[in-house]
Amino acid sequence: MKSWFKIDLWKRVMVALVLGLGVGIALRYGMGPEESGAFAKLWIGWLGELFLRMIKMMIIPLVFFTLVSGVIAMGDPKKLGSLGGRAMGMYLGTTAVAVTIGLLMGTVMQPGASLEPEMFQAVDVSAVEAKQASAEAAGGLVDRLLRVVPTNPFEALGNGDVLQVIFFSIMLGIGILMARDKGKPAANFFDAAAEAIMKMTVIVMETAPFGVFALMAVVMADKGFSILQSLGLLTLALYLSCVLHIAITYGGIIKGILRLPLKPFYRGVTDAQAVAYSTSSSGATLPVTITCVNENLGVDKSVASSVLPLGATINMDGTAIYIGLVALFGAQALDVAVTPGHYFLVAIMATLVSIGAAGIPSAGLLLSAAALEQVGLSAEQSILVIGFIYPFDRLLDMMRTLTNVTGDAAVATAVGKWEGVFNEEVYRAEDRL
Ligand code: ASP
Repeated sequence: MKSWFKIDLWKRVMVALVLGLGVGIALRYGMGPEESGAFAKLWIGWLGELFLRMIKMMIIPLVFFTLVSGVIAMGDPKKLGSLGGRAMGMYLGTTAVAVTIGLLMGTVMQPGASLEPEMFQAVDVSAVEAKQASAEAAGGLVDRLLRVVPTNPFEALGNGDVLQVIFFSIMLGIGILMARDKGKPAANFFDAAAEAIMKMTVIVMETAPFGVFALMAVVMADKGFSILQSLGLLTLALYLSCVLHIAITYGGIIKGILRLPLKPFYRGVTDAQAVAYSTSSSGATLPVTITCVNENLGVDKSVASSVLPLGATINMDGTAIYIGLVALFGAQALDVAVTPGHYFLVAIMATLVSIGAAGIPSAGLLLSAAALEQVGLSAEQSILVIGFIYPFDRLLDMMRTLTNVTGDAAVATAVGKWEGVFNEEVYRAEDRL
């Protein structure tokens, strides 16, 4: 028992992920694809669900308490401006690079070229249409911006609306700062509560190996590698683009710009990556990302708790890569010619969609119609392409979510270092074997 806890968590989580994958595949090929999914959901699913519920339980209290205490720790509301500006700049910059990589890869690999337009005829689009309608019900941009301001902050906490909670927490932190001496007891309270919530997250993380194992086993038993039959090239293109982006863009930020060794970064975010991969939701992964960036990478919680929740909602590089790829995939499959102008429009759309997509499973695919229409597909054709990919989206979603979360962590590390709230000793301590 003791030796279990002695093994680094990231190692346990990685082993669990691989084991889950193996068990899921074994079930699928042992029992047959029809039965294995139901069997795994019934017998292993509850363990994954338990883990998911536990990390989701942490999201709102963690963001609320650590962000209020983080703003207070900054001591000066003006710092928020520079922090926010830097984070937004980095988020947009990395996403622009991501789209470019996705579009390049889609052009070189031609993932849709071998498909025939007739293959899309039998696609059942009803599920997609229904889901899309609810994804779009989120409203237009102005509407969504307005809704960042909660009319009832307690309701925002209750509904788990992260952006509204961020807004309210920052205002509350500023209010406590402005109250000076009178605000001290409140400042102490939030500081203590933040500490306690972080400790709770550490406990929850101890269950991650079991949760990740179960989530992986269920996905694999349910879906297997069936995706590879029709979407093999698209999958390969996405996985390759994401790996490239993680190695070159994020590696470039860490090593080239911040002058830090790479190993501690990749090692420090492993837990968050594994949870992102197995849950397909950067929103649900948020508590793990915050803990990793704070405890392993040495970024102060004032930055981790402000930059990361924002990132989980608006920074999605994996999604941006994917939208670019899906647009090209659709055009290639339906034999629509793509001009340089189209590329430009797709790049803009992919960026916007990745900002607008929620950090939940399949959000990116459901909203990709906007990009498909930019390459000249009709609304009906776009929905066919999305419906065609949708049943197999999970394995793709896993990789883009992993990328999304890694990007948030890289940007948070950069902003933490620039803002002078980065503990290099903690970061370098990850450099051991
Ligand atoms: N599932 C992704 C995420 O949560 C979003 C997407 O569908 O691309 O980050």
